Order: sequence, then C-alpha cells, then structure tokens
Amino acid sequence: MIKALVYRSTGNWYDLKDEAGRQWRARIKGILRIDGITSTNPIAVGDWVDIEPENELENTAMITAIRDRNNYISRQSPHNKNLHHIVASNLDQSLLIATLKDPRTSQGFIDRFLVASEAYHVPAVIVFNKADTWKKKETEQFEAWKDMYEAIGYKVMSMSMQTQNGFAEVQHLLAGKTTLLSGHSGVGKSSFLNRVLPGLALSTKEVSGWSGKGMHTTTFAEMFDLSHDGRVIDTPGVREFGIVHIPRQELSHYFPEMRSLMNQCQFNNCMHINEPGCAVKANVSDLDITSDQSSKYPVHADRYISYLSILESIPEKGW
Ligand code: GDP
Ligand code: ZN
Repeated sequence: MIKALVYRSTGNWYDLKDEAGRQWRARIKGILRIDGITSTNPIAVGDWVDIEPENELENTAMITAIRDRNNYISRQSPHNKNLHHIVASNLDQSLLIATLKDPRTSQGFIDRFLVASEAYHVPAVIVFNKADTWKKKETEQFEAWKDMYEAIGYKVMSMSMQTQNGFAEVQHLLAGKTTLLSGHSGVGKSSFLNRVLPGLALSTKEVSGWSGKGMHTTTFAEMFDLSHDGRVIDTPGVREFGIVHIPRQELSHYFPEMRSLMNQCQFNNCMHINEPGCAVKANVSDLDITSDQSSKYPVHADRYISYLSILESIPEKGW
C-alpha cells in the first residue's frame, strides 16, 4: 500500500503523486464510502489516498481508501441541489486575488469569499493586485479596506505583478502551505501562477503530459507544486465558492466581529436585523466611519450591509 496525494481528477481517473514523488494515474476500486457526505465526486484534489499499484510500467493504480480530511470546500451540483461537489480538501489557507479597478472587485464578493472561508475553516488572505495602476482614490480605498479587514483578523496585502512590488511577500506566504487561489477573471491570477510556477507556461503547451491533457483544458480544481516548498490549488471553473451549507440563523457566526458580540444579544435566536436588545446592531458604525470610531463600533457598517445582503440571498426555508 502506498500513500499518495490527489493533484487532479479527469473523469474517472485521478492524477496522484506519492510521498517519494512518483506520479500515478489511478481509479477508484469498488465503492468508497465517505461518512456523512452526499457527493458527486468521492475524491477531491488535495485528498490523501491509499493506492495499490496495478501496472507498474504504466504507473497505474487502484485507490483503495481515502484518508480523513482536515477540511474541504464544496459547491452545489448544478443538476441536483442535494448533491455537493467537493472542490478541494486539506487546505492551509485561501488567497483571494482582488483588484480595485480594471476590474473592480466588489466588497460583496470579498465578504462572500470570507464567509465561505470561515465556514470551511480555512484561514483567508486578500491580496490586491495591480497596485501600479492606483491613484490617490485607489490607495485610500486599499488603506480603508486593509484597516477594516485587519481589525477583524484577515491579512490584507498589495502587490503588482507588473512591477513585482509586494510579490515576494505574497510568495513568502505560500511557502510550505497548500493554498487555494481565488479571484475574478482579469485580476492577474494567471500572471501570478505563471510566476510562482516557473514550469507552468511550458507545461500548458505540452499535450501528452501526465494525463494526456494540456493543463488548462480542465475546468476542475487542480493542484501544482510550487518551485519552493508548498502547493497551490487553482479552481478555474469556480467563480466563487457558494455559501451552500449556511442556514440563515448561522450566518453571523461567519462574521468574526459579530461572533464575538452575539452572545450579548437579548434573544439567542437573534438575527441582528431589528430585534430589541441586539448587541450586534448596537455596535454597527456610522456609514462615514472615522478611524477613532472603529474601536467604539467594532462592526463596520459596510460589513453589516454585506451581512444583510448575504442573509437575503439565503432561502428562508433553508437549503
Ligand atoms: P486572470 O484572468 O486573473 O488570470 O488575469 P491575467 O493574469 O490574465 O491578467 C489580466 C490582465 O491584467 C492582463 O492583461 C495582465 O497583463 C494584466 N495584469 C496582471 N497583473 C497586473 C498588474 O499587476 N498590473 C497591471 N497594470 N496589469 C496587470
Ligand atoms: Zn443580535
């Protein structure tokens, strides 16, 4: 029995690498039962599995077991809302690449990303790229968001893939970890990936690689080894991870600044909308917040607006 890590899935085949660095193509043997998950794909990128070699010359193997996951992210199947597709597992952190213009990443998008990261128990980092294009307005916006997000525990960085300013710091953050990469198209994700994975541009042109497919033909998650220690997972087909599992009642648990206040609400089922004695609502800042107000009112008005807007998008009857 050999222990191996899943890098990519292509239909019924999985591309794996064992601890000695040997690559395998493997299929699932029989039925693998995974407790408590109704999933359309039993094995995900990032999973550790046990394999038995089938054909040593062709590097093919059978997957006989899957190891417990530390965490995983999933999304709803487009065909059946009761089925979940596990996108990736065993993540150390999630990194959102955002931009302030061309294109502008909305705060709503960032907050949904953060809520999903909280729900999946994955620490989140936000990196604003294209800093070389910023004028006064964008620099101020960056500073305001950095203050707001760092006050509630998220790391916020700036970088330019054009000038390479700030890139080394972001690269340093990836060392030794498995990082899920997210972001709208156009934010510079490919530029970033090509830089942290020096072999990638070359590999995408190869047609008969590992699985006989060019690396960018897949729309599923795919994991890559970094040039130094560490790995990144790219999810080209996933625009944002959905907030599929979260009941309305639970949403505020995934806003760290609300989580620390909600025990003080008068009602323990408080939704923090208009209930009497709501400690969250009482701590929402004015819209035109100044920095000396922020310690007095720990819930930023813009974050509260995001909360209400995500809440509204969750069906009342639950998922
Ligand atoms: P992706 O869609 O997120 O993969 O983004 P790309 O890496 O393809 O980049 C989209 C466009 O933005 C390309 O024209 C890049 O050259 C450009 N771009 C990427 N990073 C930067 C940056 O830091 N500054 C500027 N000015 N342009 C950038
Ligand atoms: Zn409340």
